[in-house]
Amino acid sequence: MSTILVIAEEKNHQIRNATLEVVTAAAGLAASHGGRVAVLLLSSAAVDGASLAACGADRLLAAVDPRLAVYHPDLFKQIVLKAVAMTGADALFFSATSMGRDLAPRVAAALSAPCLADCTEVTMQDGTLTATKPLFAGKVLGRFILNGDKKVVSLRAGVFSIMERRPSAEVAFEPLPVPDSAFPLQATPTPASDVGRVDVGDADVVVTGGRGLRSAENFALVEELADALGGAVGATRAVVDSGWRPHREQVGQTGKVVSPDLYFMIGASGSIQHWAGMSGSRCIVAINKDSNAPIFQRADYGLIGDLFEIVPALTAELKKRSA
Ligand SMILES: Cc1cc2nc3c(=O)[nH]c(=O)nc-3n(C[C@H](O)[C@H](O)[C@H](O)COP(=O)(O)OP(=O)(O)OC[C@H]3O[C@@H](n4cnc5c(N)ncnc54)[C@H](O)[C@@H]3O)c2cc1C
Repeated sequence: MSTILVIAEEKNHQIRNATLEVVTAAAGLAASHGGRVAVLLLSSAAVDGASLAACGADRLLAAVDPRLAVYHPDLFKQIVLKAVAMTGADALFFSATSMGRDLAPRVAAALSAPCLADCTEVTMQDGTLTATKPLFAGKVLGRFILNGDKKVVSLRAGVFSIMERRPSAEVAFEPLPVPDSAFPLQATPTPASDVGRVDVGDADVVVTGGRGLRSAENFALVEELADALGGAVGATRAVVDSGWRPHREQVGQTGKVVSPDLYFMIGASGSIQHWAGMSGSRCIVAINKDSNAPIFQRADYGLIGDLFEIVPALTAELKKRSA
């Protein structure tokens, strides 16, 4: 493998942790098997690339244009393909974020390259890129060999650690012109209410509420606990299907995959489909009134009792301690 191209993402003009994880993983492979790491950033405004260089990027490309404020699949794909041509990359690494999951297969199709999404391990064996990903809601791990001139993978966020291999490295961004193409598809900005909230996929602490909350209004309890912990709010599918919370907060097989340091489950049973999205959490705390709820077989800490008593008491105690 000669060059790995990492597709970087920023939020509020800061490189996302999910991207730094991918750069670290790519740099690890490049260091042990020879090769270079190039990073492409698509952004609406200039962003400091020091963290990318520190994590091991040898080359930085930046496509900066106000039109890149909103993810546009066709425009972003065109820019990535330009970067592939510029760098001669033979492997493309994305983060398995909402954007990465959408963009990676589009780019792979354009390159006629194999694509493996949501990988939890990437290695080189005898010069061949091998990647592992959970299958069947995490019941088994599949190991795949990616053949071909070019390979595309996306890495699950929160699984790979961030390591600053070269803390004082300085690499300047090379500008990559944004094409002036017109596309039939129009991308619309994220609603204002979403802006500024910690995304459930990026948060170190996630507080998820389940059907046991009984109503959308009762989610105020979950929000207050999340605020007290500086975390994000998550939801089960039962909650999202009931219209109590938006789909962007859903965790699980058909929602987001998260790996926070701390994951609270409040009034949620712990179905296998939900587990598929949060099994990588470092510490799981469950609050449920049913001592036989499946989540108690897997949680690190379990509180058996009524959430309407436990959660307000917990939030009040946390607020008292931080006052
Ligand atoms: C193909 C497929 C994909 C799916 N994808 C997802 C997915 O991505 N994410 C997901 O979450 N689900 C997913 N599901 C749905 C999943 O199977 C479950 O139905 C869902 O996770 C259950 O949500 P829940 O835990 O909120 O509800 P329930 O299973 O109904 O659990 C509610 C829990 O609340 C507890 N409770 C009730 N009242 C209180 C109280 N006062 N105090 C404390 N505890 C209380 C109960 O004891 C119970 O354990 C999927 C299903 C399928 C078939």
